[in-house]
Amino acid sequence: MTTDVSVDDTEQGGDPLRTNRRQFLGLAAAGATLAAAPLSSASAARTKTSARIVILGAGAAGTALANRLSQRFDGAKITIIDGRKQHLYQPGFTLIAAGLKSANYSVSTTGEWLPRNIEWIEEAAAEIDPEAKQVVTASGKAVPYDFLFVATGLRLDYGAIEGMSLDLIGKDGIGSVYAGPDYAAKTWEEMSRFTDKGGVALFSRPATEMKCAGAPLKYAFLTDDYAVQKGTRSKSKMIYAAQNKTFFSVPIVSEKVRMLFEERGIEPVYDHVMTRIDPGRKIATFKTPEGDKEIGYDFTNVIPPMRAPEVVMNSPLPWKEGIWVDQGWVEVDKHTLRHARYPDVFAVGDIAGVPKGKTAASVKWQVPVAVEQLAAQIEGKESTARYDGYTSCPLITRVGKAMLVEFDYNNNLTPSFPGIIAPLEELWISWLMKEIALKPTYNAMLRGRA
Ligand SMILES: Cc1cc2nc3c(=O)[nH]c(=O)nc-3n(C[C@H](O)[C@H](O)[C@H](O)COP(=O)(O)OP(=O)(O)OC[C@H]3O[C@@H](n4cnc5c(N)ncnc54)[C@H](O)[C@@H]3O)c2cc1C
Repeated sequence: MTTDVSVDDTEQGGDPLRTNRRQFLGLAAAGATLAAAPLSSASAARTKTSARIVILGAGAAGTALANRLSQRFDGAKITIIDGRKQHLYQPGFTLIAAGLKSANYSVSTTGEWLPRNIEWIEEAAAEIDPEAKQVVTASGKAVPYDFLFVATGLRLDYGAIEGMSLDLIGKDGIGSVYAGPDYAAKTWEEMSRFTDKGGVALFSRPATEMKCAGAPLKYAFLTDDYAVQKGTRSKSKMIYAAQNKTFFSVPIVSEKVRMLFEERGIEPVYDHVMTRIDPGRKIATFKTPEGDKEIGYDFTNVIPPMRAPEVVMNSPLPWKEGIWVDQGWVEVDKHTLRHARYPDVFAVGDIAGVPKGKTAASVKWQVPVAVEQLAAQIEGKESTARYDGYTSCPLITRVGKAMLVEFDYNNNLTPSFPGIIAPLEELWISWLMKEIALKPTYNAMLRGRA
């Protein structure tokens, strides 16, 4: 199919991405709803095209893409494929698991965020064929495309931990913040029971890439804080099992976490990867360089390995060599998010095979880049839009305190408010970013307005 093109001649000046980051966080700090953030694609040039654009996944990235693409292109036939009726605001899971929000805080409907002028196929994609340029849905419907955006997020591989299953969450000291809002609420009940009396709390993270790599740390800090508040800290031992020799991929942040753990008496063990859990004996087994090690617990927050959903894993799209072969992330250029072998395919969000960026804050920066790359491709031009790896983690250290850690591919800290919000200081304003401002900002992103 040909993609006929014409372009309005409206132009944007300056560095829209840099300016917009400040505005994004500035409005976030104020808790504003971003109803009319400047530099949205609605005010940018609209490209006329009859291209068929298919988006896989209607989570944070897919929904933001649907809105941005429909604002950016005039005449495109946009289809989004996702069988999930609920939209989950996942950054809220930590607050639910901290007893600060109820489970419904994170739940809305998929449909309410999607633009009216696109088609939503309410089923999962079962097959991606980038040679034939089509997707096949679970019911066998073939959906041809000219351009494909893969935004399926990732799969929580609980099955990779022997003995672990979702029905264990909320019983016998087992929590799992990642599993969903109801499981996060059950995790809170377990954490609350634990901090009422004390014992051994065990925290860990998987050895795979993961979304919001700060979340395991946040939950260790929150559990410690509750134990202190309830007066049971002296009766508690807290262990954090790191999957390698660090706590975070950015060295300076990792060192700061090490210092905070030391200050707070959270005992680290290194090179520990959970492989098994025995709920009856309350023992977790870890693979270590010295062989298997068992650690007993009274409370644990299980975080499973994370991989691409099967539909992506079984397609030709993942990296074929390198460290991610068993994880299935899509092989894209880390700056343009365009597939290395299929130039009509982009990957955005958690599924993108890039070295940083599995956060909603990264989605915010990835989506406009991918959309501008596509616009230039359709117009037969080169785009200068680049994703620099921007990732942001409001790293909660206590109820009411957080460090707003922002960084890029080069492990540079990239504070949006230099001199105002210090990235490695535990601040109330950074806590407010997470607790109050992040959700309206996220919602504005879904609408393509931030
Ligand atoms: C506990 C926790 C805390 C977090 N905290 C933060 C935070 O503080 N700040 C932050 O920025 N980020 C945070 N995140 C990360 C953030 O939520 C994710 O990075 C973000 O949601 C990624 O968006 P996505 O669209 O790639 O994936 P998702 O939002 O997960 O959406 C993926 C979508 O793809 C769909 N899908 C899957 N398979 C298929 C298929 N076969 N066919 C069609 N559709 C499919 C799913 O149904 C889903 O709707 C946190 C996440 C968790 C779990």
